[in-house]
Amino acid sequence: MIKTRAIVLHRFPYSDSSFIVKALTEECGVVSFIVKGGKRKESPFKGALDPLALSEVVFRENPNTELQFIKEATLIEWRKNLREDLLALAKAQAMAEIVLRYAPQGVPLQAEFQLLEKATAALDCPPETPKQNIFARWLLDTCDVWGYNLDLGTCCRCGKNLDTAPADFVPETGAIICKECLGVTTPRVRPETSRDLWNLLKGNNLESPQFVENALLAYLRHHIGFHKELKSLQFLNDTRKLFGC
Ligand SMILES: [Zn+2]
Repeated sequence: MIKTRAIVLHRFPYSDSSFIVKALTEECGVVSFIVKGGKRKESPFKGALDPLALSEVVFRENPNTELQFIKEATLIEWRKNLREDLLALAKAQAMAEIVLRYAPQGVPLQAEFQLLEKATAALDCPPETPKQNIFARWLLDTCDVWGYNLDLGTCCRCGKNLDTAPADFVPETGAIICKECLGVTTPRVRPETSRDLWNLLKGNNLESPQFVENALLAYLRHHIGFHKELKSLQFLNDTRKLFGC
């Protein structure tokens, strides 16, 4: 019997009364659970298996099947503030889908669990808390955990440590280029992206987070070699438009 904290990544109906829940567990990586009777109003799991909830689950690991039967699920944190902030929700869903689609299967993912737990907790802070760095920081840390470390502080051409924002960034390779090395060449990214890569490195608040988020997403997806559309990114883009960013 395994007892572990879990973050619900995805939930979909399986039959008239059942769900399949895919969760990132602290101990066993991504696990798929079948939740019989989960759709019923008197389900013992209540909000514990809602997408993005943090819960403690108990299950017996059966190595012969991909779908595990869940015995208990106790809600630790439902993330009420996050659910009431559409942009925070869109970013949390994007993180959950990236983990679900890209993370290695069948192995423990403790670092991924910690990063996602920290980021969803930060997005769940009260509305007035600054949240513009959270998704970009998570992308940067996730690149690191998955072996695609990005050194935002060093020019890839001359090797100099930057003392100001880079002049360019190449999302396909992750190359950071200083002003001297870029010379008269037109930069690939907007000035906002370069400035916010620097802000991210220095821990300052991002000014236009969507550009640096998109640059880091492009970098990550290029390295993972996965180009299928992510539904959550479409939702994130629609939400950004709604909020004029
Ligand atoms: Zn240089």
